[in-house]
Amino acid sequence: MACMALAANAGAQTVAITIDDGPNLEQTPRLSPEQRNQTMLNALAKHGVSAALFVTADYAAKQPAGYVLAKAWGDAGHAVGNHTMSHPNLHSDKVSLAQYQQEILDCDQIISTLPGYQKWYRYTYLREGNTPEKRDGMRNFLKQQNYRNAYVSLDTSDWRLNEKLIEVLKKNPEADVTPIKLAYLAHVRQRAEAYRALSWQLQGRDIPQVLLMHHNLINALWLDDVLAQFKEMGWKFTTPAAAFSDPVYQLVPERTEPGQSLLLSMARSLGLDKFAGWERLVDDGDFEIEALKKQGL
Ligand SMILES: [Zn+2]
Repeated sequence: MACMALAANAGAQTVAITIDDGPNLEQTPRLSPEQRNQTMLNALAKHGVSAALFVTADYAAKQPAGYVLAKAWGDAGHAVGNHTMSHPNLHSDKVSLAQYQQEILDCDQIISTLPGYQKWYRYTYLREGNTPEKRDGMRNFLKQQNYRNAYVSLDTSDWRLNEKLIEVLKKNPEADVTPIKLAYLAHVRQRAEAYRALSWQLQGRDIPQVLLMHHNLINALWLDDVLAQFKEMGWKFTTPAAAFSDPVYQLVPERTEPGQSLLLSMARSLGLDKFAGWERLVDDGDFEIEALKKQGL
């Protein structure tokens, strides 16, 4: 067994790219919704990456102008998964288990007509239920629906740096945003290295990592650079389907860590609440935001 594990693990660290909350028709500086969608697809094609898009249907896909944007992902060979209709928070007292499940069924109605459709569910906010009823209710529901939990192992705070980017560009459309780009690349690299180290600590090997990013302006502008950086780091791209076939993604940690990755939930379940570098994995990008503020951004 040990030999087989080593053989299976020979070679480079791999990563699968998954993009949540897309597509969306929001207006942002610099690029139209169609341009944002297309530049992300172009970056993936350029690097030969087969990714997954997790659709939040109210953001665009339920209407014709947005449906074509979602369909472009399936047409390009990417997987298409479920991320609800309106992105409700399962941990809110105002959101019942039944309402949350209905959101998933409604989204399924839309995405099941798209090429690339997979019965993969990505929890909104990576929150799997704040009560045993919700948590176990969702686990049973996904099983009944023949859906898998589309876990994240490597989460980033791209959304936070994206907020900063948009704030800066709204104030000054001509602003030099190079410092934000550099901060974003450094952020992804730091998270990638830290989660790789955590994988060794927990599994004694490089698991295929599943990276979470969002369908937003920062990735429309710089996904190409993020992918190039992974190549420079010696990482190879794998498909989400191949990554999810690894046994680690069958695990169901007792303590799901709200808003955090499978690896962090595993660490918490094993009582490893604090380990070297854990603060930077849960800081929502504070480290980079503070550094940018010091640069006047
Ligand atoms: Zn989301």
